[in-house]
Amino acid sequence: MSTDARSSTSSAELAKTLASTLEGLQGLEERITAIRAAIPGRIVFSTSLGIEDQVILDAIASSGAEIDVLTLDTGRHFPETLETIRDSELKYGLKIQVVSPDKGDVDGLVARDGVFGFRNAVENRIACCDVRKVRPLNRALEGADGWITGMRRAQSQGRGETPFATFEEAQGLVKTNPLADWSLERVEAVVKTKSVPVNALHARGYPSIGCQPCTRAIQPGEDIRAGRWWWENEDGKECGLHNRPKPVSQKEDASS
Ligand code: SF4
Repeated sequence: MSTDARSSTSSAELAKTLASTLEGLQGLEERITAIRAAIPGRIVFSTSLGIEDQVILDAIASSGAEIDVLTLDTGRHFPETLETIRDSELKYGLKIQVVSPDKGDVDGLVARDGVFGFRNAVENRIACCDVRKVRPLNRALEGADGWITGMRRAQSQGRGETPFATFEEAQGLVKTNPLADWSLERVEAVVKTKSVPVNALHARGYPSIGCQPCTRAIQPGEDIRAGRWWWENEDGKECGLHNRPKPVSQKEDASS
C-alpha cells in the first residue's frame, strides 16, 4: 500500500471515529473542542455568515480552539452579509479572512455569459458558482487537514443525510458538520441566549442567504432553501461547495 493510500485509510478511519464521537456529544462547544483534538494540523471553518455558521463561530470563539475562519466574498453579496463580517469581528475580537475569486476567472466568465448569465442556464449558474465559490474555497483549503461547515440535515431534502464527519478524498481532508442533527429552533435559541450577531435578512424572510441575485425571501411552509436559485429544479440546488452528502456507512460501501 502506498503512503498516500495509507494516509487516506487512516484519515477515513479518523473521520469514522470522529463522526461517532460527535454524535455522542450534545454541546456545540464540546463538539468543536473534539474536532480540534481529533484532527492534527490546520482546520478551516468556512462561514457563509448565515445563522448556522454564526452559531459555530460563537462556539469557536468560546472554546478558544485554534481554527482558521474564512468567508468567500463572491462579489455579489448583500450589504447585510458584509455587515455581518464586521459585527462578528467586533463581537468576538477575531479576524475573518475574506477570500476573493480570481479576477481573471471572473472577467472571463462575465465576458462569456454576461453579468446575469447564471440565470440563462443551469450550466452557466454552476460555472458562476465554480468561479466565485468553489475554486476560491479549494485554494483556501489547500494544505488544511480539517474543514468545518454549518450544514444541517433539516435544511433541505438534499442535505437529509449529512454525516457528522467524512474523509473528502478530493481535498485530502476530514470534513465535519457539527450541526448535522440540529434543528433551526435550537440554532435560533442559541442566537437569542448568547446574543450572537446574525444577518439582518434572516428577520426579513431569508432563512438561507447566498448571493443577492440568486436569493429571495421564502413564503411560510416553503423549504428553507427554496429561496436559493428558485428558478431551478429542487434536486440540483447546491453550488458545488458541498457534494451531495452520503453517510459514512454508504461511503464505505461505495469504496469497498
Ligand atoms: S450564487 Fe449566483 S451570483 Fe453567486 S456564485 Fe452562484 S450563480 Fe454566481
